[in-house]
Amino acid sequence: MMIEQPLDEDDLVDHAKLQRTLHTPICLDESIRHVEDARKAVELGSCRIINVKVARVGGLTQVRKIEAFCRTHHVPLWCGGMLETGIGRAINLALTTLPGFTLPEDTSASSRYFHQDIVDPPAVLHNDGTIDVPQGPGIGVNVLIDRIQTLATDHQRFEA
Ligand SMILES: [Mg+2]
Repeated sequence: MMIEQPLDEDDLVDHAKLQRTLHTPICLDESIRHVEDARKAVELGSCRIINVKVARVGGLTQVRKIEAFCRTHHVPLWCGGMLETGIGRAINLALTTLPGFTLPEDTSASSRYFHQDIVDPPAVLHNDGTIDVPQGPGIGVNVLIDRIQTLATDHQRFEA
């Protein structure tokens, strides 16, 4: 389906050269730090698919910009994930309901990485390979403050 990030993250030119020699789409991941990287990569022909990660691009605003760019330019987009707690998983699940996310995301069940998640409900993988999008207010899940305090090994307080 794709070859993900075969070359260095700052190597859009050589990704474009490589993409011209391949039938298989290149998906850029680490190369896409914000929407301008997406624009340049697509204009150069460095990729035909983009993988976005919320933390890598600096937050939800950049994800929305990249999603809008990909939707407008018909670039398949998906959301990567791995070690997020349930907070990040809930956000990823919600983001990928946006119409520009046209490929399946790789958010996994909370239990794949954690004995206990810090949200309720945790992300649960169904037998058909789907995970429900949390439907509660805000990010859709309740953050379990008591569990975080129990699991924490240290804490610091920052006052505004
Ligand atoms: Mg990757």
